[in-house]
Amino acid sequence: MVITTWEEATMSYDAKTVDNKPLYEDFLTSWKPRVSYHFNEEVSRFHFGVRHPMKPFRLMLTDHLVLGYKLHERMDLYRPRRATKEEMMAFHAEEYMDFLQRVTPDNVKEFTNKVLTKFNIGDDCPIFDGMYDYSSIYTGASLDASRKLINEQSDIAINWSGGLHHAKKFEASGFCYINDIVLAILNLLRYHPRVLYIDIDVHHGDGVQEAFYATDRVMTLSFHKYNGDYFPGTGNVDEIGTGDGKHYSLNVPLRDGIEDDAYIRLFKCIVEPVLASYEPGAIVVQCGADSLGCDRLGCFNLNTKAHAECVRFVKSFNIPMMVVGGGGYTPRNVSRLWCLETSVCLDVQLESRLPAAIPFVKYFSPDYSLYPNLSGKIDNKNTRKYLESIKTQIMEQLRFLNGAPSVQMQDVPPDLQGFDPDMDAAMLDEKADATTDSRDIELDRKDGARRKELVD
Ligand SMILES: [Zn+2]
Repeated sequence: MVITTWEEATMSYDAKTVDNKPLYEDFLTSWKPRVSYHFNEEVSRFHFGVRHPMKPFRLMLTDHLVLGYKLHERMDLYRPRRATKEEMMAFHAEEYMDFLQRVTPDNVKEFTNKVLTKFNIGDDCPIFDGMYDYSSIYTGASLDASRKLINEQSDIAINWSGGLHHAKKFEASGFCYINDIVLAILNLLRYHPRVLYIDIDVHHGDGVQEAFYATDRVMTLSFHKYNGDYFPGTGNVDEIGTGDGKHYSLNVPLRDGIEDDAYIRLFKCIVEPVLASYEPGAIVVQCGADSLGCDRLGCFNLNTKAHAECVRFVKSFNIPMMVVGGGGYTPRNVSRLWCLETSVCLDVQLESRLPAAIPFVKYFSPDYSLYPNLSGKIDNKNTRKYLESIKTQIMEQLRFLNGAPSVQMQDVPPDLQGFDPDMDAAMLDEKADATTDSRDIELDRKDGARRKELVD
């Protein structure tokens, strides 16, 4: 069947007028952030398997929408190089990294069940062709984004291929092999005394919370579905951190079916005091799209506008911000959301009607809208009383934060001292390597100098 576009549906139209019509409108705001977009399109070509819900293709679809709306004209575009094994070992264990690098679908039978179980390989985290490359590409993009924030080339750095918040130091989890968020935050901590992490994926941001559970230099705040059973099973309100990190993990456990207004209200009334008392130097926002209604694995009722309103609210505080993707298992809605959130970062308002001349436009049938109706599919189990009690418990916890902890920059964790000028020099020699982006190599050289200053 031939796909009918809106134009074809009308009797006649003026092609010139349609072609020249702006696809977005500027908001008249005084502060225009410098926004960078970090995307290596190779990442969208991998396949977890036919029945696996994680579809890297959603990233290509997102990119088509971003380009279709011409948002690329307003951002710095980077095609980042892959993360090196050494870079990923700033968080992950060497033994786990060796395994990820060696294992393939062809040789997986040579590994014992004990080894596969140890690294949590199975249905959720299968060994698929190119798994290591896939992980190093999305991680490379998050590291690149963090570097652009650190050297103040960007106020907002976007990596929709990142946000893999479940991966642990020693094992894969929940479709995530490498925790690009933890690695990016470790990078940001070289420069910023405190980093705030906000997670609006429908699942608890357990990997990031766990990595920073005992430090006050990173505050983690996760909004998610929780009943003790729903993956990953953690994220109750009583998980508050430990040692120096006590009170620096915040969890907002929600029931099925939460709707736009209640979610936004709760989000704002928690995020505002967190920002006021913690005073982060940078914020990382994980924008998992599985918290939208109609998600294949999700159970909320959020629409794209409400989800994006959370990003807009965080952005309104004008703090350097890294924006990453995460979950999201209905590709047509994931891509609409992340395109909308790109426009929010850029302070422009998009036409609700999607650009017709994009590949795969049929995916957006029948409404072809940036704002499909995704609400009302699931019973809302969040009573007003329940949400009030959660809010009260979070506010109680915030009372323990007596202003921002004072942190000396020499408190950089030992893991962060690993800057290696030889390694960066070696990368400069890899210019011929197709996986390495020349523009980024140049910038890496500068980043290296900057980082060296910081470490020294
Ligand atoms: Zn998720």
